[in-house]
Amino acid sequence: LYPSQEAHDSALNSIRAFLKSHTAYDAFPVSFRLIVLDTKLNVKKALQCLLLNGVVSAPLWNSDKSKFAGMLTVLDIIHLIQYYYRTASYDYAAADVETFRLESLRGLSTSAIPTSNFTHQSLDIEKELGVDQPPLLREHPSSSLYDAARLLIQTHARRLPLLDHDTETGHEVIASVLTQYRLLKFISINCHKEIQQLHIPLRRLKIGTYVANLRHEVPEGQNPYYPIATASLNTPVFDVVHMFSERSISAVPIIDEEGIVVNLYETVDVITLVRLGAYQSLDLKISEALNQRSPDFPGVVICTSSDSLGTLLQLIKMRRVHRLVVVEGEEEERRGGKKGRLLGIITLSDVLQYVIGAASIGEGIEPPEEDNKTANS
Ligand code: ADP
Repeated sequence: LYPSQEAHDSALNSIRAFLKSHTAYDAFPVSFRLIVLDTKLNVKKALQCLLLNGVVSAPLWNSDKSKFAGMLTVLDIIHLIQYYYRTASYDYAAADVETFRLESLRGLSTSAIPTSNFTHQSLDIEKELGVDQPPLLREHPSSSLYDAARLLIQTHARRLPLLDHDTETGHEVIASVLTQYRLLKFISINCHKEIQQLHIPLRRLKIGTYVANLRHEVPEGQNPYYPIATASLNTPVFDVVHMFSERSISAVPIIDEEGIVVNLYETVDVITLVRLGAYQSLDLKISEALNQRSPDFPGVVICTSSDSLGTLLQLIKMRRVHRLVVVEGEEEERRGGKKGRLLGIITLSDVLQYVIGAASIGEGIEPPEEDNKTANS
């Protein structure tokens, strides 16, 4: 039987109270480095800098105006590649992506910056591609973690730049960047007691995105794993880049003909390919691209739908996990399902959304009939 919903709800409430009584400052690591990129840098140098420092995003700084100018993230690079593939020739794309200045991305230079001196006019890449514009948000470091988390969820930003003001010059100061991971890790470190109360399985809590038709009975030609975007080892990398860009997701499970999860292809993997210099490498198959992964790739984290939110938060405390692939296992296996078959995907925004409470407490979704059986078995 599931442990009491009451204990679960009270633990969640207590985590929310904790977030309301702490500021973004409190969640800063004891010591950290902040990489800020000047908007005059070209994309190639910016990428090198990100890779060299082992980060996947950075705040942008407009040094002419001494102002914060938004965030550069992996998804920007993905959109840029996608844009060039659509609009230009292969060679042109390869040559141009790298010389493009950060300030011409996303219409950053539409304000008072003259474009005539630069190689490129500013581009509204997101608009051209018909994808969402990244939000230009910010928060003061002394705002509460709860408000910061709400802002992250509402805008679906994965990170929130924290800006202060220099009292002498009046200029903006980029203090830090609060990521979804940092926030959840802060909870996992400080709400130990509460986490132990979160025993209810993830699927029952409706955390994550799941295959709609568990029997995969769909008309010929349709995706049996809908709404999950998947690929196989033979899919060209570019097709997956397209999925990233179009759906604003950062990972696609790689499955075999049986639906068994064999790997996960992530937006950061594309950056590794691009670093190797060859935009042509986007023509590679996923299997070939996976061979280029650095040997210290931490591995794909797999869970089953019976794993609990508490277990997940404990995992977040121990390692830098950004997403988990949910596979059929244990209960499903007993019912004759095959172990390792794709069931869903859980990302940090899914977890954060639940913890912060998009749905009010107690509104747990009724599990499907099968889950009920499991629960009582
Ligand atoms: P995050 O927002 O935590 O950075 P994503 O951008 O990858 O992670 O995920 C955004 C949303 O899309 C989440 O709700 C997640 O469950 C869902 N999602 C992630 N990957 C896929 C996928 N391959 N197919 C369908 N939905 C996905």
